[in-house]
Amino acid sequence: MKKWQRKEKRILQAGMKVQIAVLGILILLIAAVTLQSAFGLKMAVEKSTKAYVRDVADQLSSDIDDRLFKISRELLLVGDSLLRTGTDLNEREVKEYLGRKREILEFGSMIVLDTEGRKLVIGDPIEEAGHLSGIQNSFQGNNGVSFLDGQTILYSVPLFRGNKVVGVLGGTRSKENMQVLIQPGSFNGHGLSCIADRNGNVVISPTDLEPFMKLDDIFKKESGGAAAGNIHQMQENMKKGTDGVFSFVAVDGTQLILSYNYLETYHWFLLTLVPADLISYETDRYIMQTFAIVAGTILLFLLLLFALLYIYRNNRRRLEHIAFVDEVTGGMSNAAFRIKLKEMLKSAEKNRYTVAVINICNFKLINESFGSREGDKTLRYCMEVLQRNVRKGELAARGEEDNFFLCLEENRQEAITARLQAVIADINSFNRTAKNPYYLFFRQGAYLIDDPQMDITIIQDRVMTACLNRQEYEENTCVFYDFHFTQRIKQEHELNAMLPSALENRDFQVYFQPKVNLRKGKVAGAEALVRWQNPEKGMISPEDFIPLFEKNGNICKLDCYVFEEVCRILDQWRKEGRELFPISVNLSRQHFKNPDFMEQFVEIAVNYQIPKGLLELELTESIFFDDKGIALVRENIDKMHELGFKCSLDDFGSGFSSLGLLKEFDVDTIKLDRRFFMDMSKPKARDVVECLIDLSRRLKVQTVAEGIETGEQIEFLKRIQCDMVQGYYYSRPLPVEEFEKWVGWQ
Ligand code: C2E
Ligand code: CA
Ligand code: CA
Repeated sequence: MKKWQRKEKRILQAGMKVQIAVLGILILLIAAVTLQSAFGLKMAVEKSTKAYVRDVADQLSSDIDDRLFKISRELLLVGDSLLRTGTDLNEREVKEYLGRKREILEFGSMIVLDTEGRKLVIGDPIEEAGHLSGIQNSFQGNNGVSFLDGQTILYSVPLFRGNKVVGVLGGTRSKENMQVLIQPGSFNGHGLSCIADRNGNVVISPTDLEPFMKLDDIFKKESGGAAAGNIHQMQENMKKGTDGVFSFVAVDGTQLILSYNYLETYHWFLLTLVPADLISYETDRYIMQTFAIVAGTILLFLLLLFALLYIYRNNRRRLEHIAFVDEVTGGMSNAAFRIKLKEMLKSAEKNRYTVAVINICNFKLINESFGSREGDKTLRYCMEVLQRNVRKGELAARGEEDNFFLCLEENRQEAITARLQAVIADINSFNRTAKNPYYLFFRQGAYLIDDPQMDITIIQDRVMTACLNRQEYEENTCVFYDFHFTQRIKQEHELNAMLPSALENRDFQVYFQPKVNLRKGKVAGAEALVRWQNPEKGMISPEDFIPLFEKNGNICKLDCYVFEEVCRILDQWRKEGRELFPISVNLSRQHFKNPDFMEQFVEIAVNYQIPKGLLELELTESIFFDDKGIALVRENIDKMHELGFKCSLDDFGSGFSSLGLLKEFDVDTIKLDRRFFMDMSKPKARDVVECLIDLSRRLKVQTVAEGIETGEQIEFLKRIQCDMVQGYYYSRPLPVEEFEKWVGWQ
């Protein structure tokens, strides 16, 4: 993985970490809120459990108290009747009375004691009754309770005569009787109750004493912790005879609720012990279920999220690979180049880097000749060479098609040229061992970045502009971007855009330059030359727009326009009865792309009824060197003659003119380029022209000398019998009216 890719990855990973952290916090928040509401619910349930326990225990305690009060009141009533009956305890009636009462009131035994130590027991015998604490209590004037053999309770009341205690009456009940009562059914068997005295000693308990034994422990041992305060409070309350309820954790860890309720009759307390989860047992289950559902949902959500993240990361990695790695060469893609370059330029001073492009000349030819596989292989190979030629901190990437961009840390033109030459030499080095060398040629463009803030697209555009602006002779050298390139492109764009409206508004004018017959010394023809009279820019020279319109085919429209104008003017002259002479019109090579281009010219000429032989079409010599077109050009020249047009070979001698052309093509005229006559002082130059004129005469081809400006040239041309002359010597190209004047028609 390349450095820049690693950096991209680091940035992505940092982003991912932030996302995961945010997610983690979110999940923690959800968990916290869920916990808080669960805790709140638990607290509420505990509170209502306490209230419920207190209510039930209240009810129970008042039942028990009623029962105890009833027992003591029954005993008091019996005692009252007894005192009224008599005091002799041996009396048969007393025995009978108590026996009856025992049965009615369901006492196990009944006992009467007087202050003199006499006692009467009805039912089961009661030993040592005088020593029992309850009995002694009753002798003090209070209600008393004593426990016989652990299974029987002896309730006792004082017998008053006036204010004086004269005896004690007692009745026994089995302990079970009370146990049944205090076994609370209300808690579905989950609670336990017992009766204790004010000091916390258990007085009556259900059979299972164990929890209360623990409670005893708590009373005795518990000294610290949260329960200590509650227990202390309870002890205080019990002394005062006040009710209360609190929850605590038992020694074995179970959460319990303890309710203590005052039983007035004997100043006891009903202690009720209920597990704290009595009610919350159900809700706990639901809470646990809710927790499980929430946790499960979060887990599922996380799993889903991680799966999505995984897919997303994989896709992203794939996309990154597609975007940043060039598919064909495996090197840096243009997208990556742009990102990386932008980053480098952020901190770069001006004139530090140069962006260059190299473009394989005729790459399409490689594809066509050897197949696209070989083409791709070539691109891959070029990329490898570029990669090993760039230094640390420089870049090499493939742009579109066969363009390779380089960012070099160089600012001198010679250094950049040398670096590019070295790269190209390295690329072509494979030929050293090749049997049939195949040299790759490159167009090269470069732009020294003088403004690091510049948009990358503009930088690349400028490099491409430089590359495409090279001239023929610059094929294998680097062209450096110049501001004028852009200006020219802008201007060209503007002119192209203006063409349709200019044609419509007839901003193009046709000028005529006379051709003079040297022998006769009078006008024998004229060449139509177009001028662009722009309302804003003024006169635009054909040099500025003809080559441009040649490039994009617009020239054909313009040529037709000029041709029609010429026909219109000829028609007018004809109608005016002028002595007409041939007018030549320039024809771009672009027309030959359309095999039927002649039809439109014929149509126009016929339309204006131009007599045959009056129109001449000028073809530049470059058209004759296009191999593919030779047959087509020959055919079209024949067609021109058939249709009544003459044909001339323009600019002969400006390029690679060949005498063979004269033999090969049936042209009527050759126009010798002005270059031939520029230096007439040299005999060799004069000889060449003389020979050409001589040859043309033999071939019956007319000759026109172009660009003639001096009398000397005229003299020479007359001498060698050149047929016609066109040049400033006679006249510049003229607008119609001036031309008419020049000819002498006005
Ligand atoms: P060309 O066809 O070779 O036209 C002759 C050019 O030489 C004209 O330039 C003319 O003004 C110039 N010239 C004539 N006599 C002299 C002279 O004594 N000395 C000098 N120095 N120059 C002379 P112009 O009009 O600027 O046209 C330039 C070129 O533009 C033409 O070269 C022709 O190739 C092209 N052109 C002009 N009008 C049209 C047209 O309607 N259609 C096409 N396709 N090309 C045209
Ligand atoms: Ca011409
Ligand atoms: Ca010419």
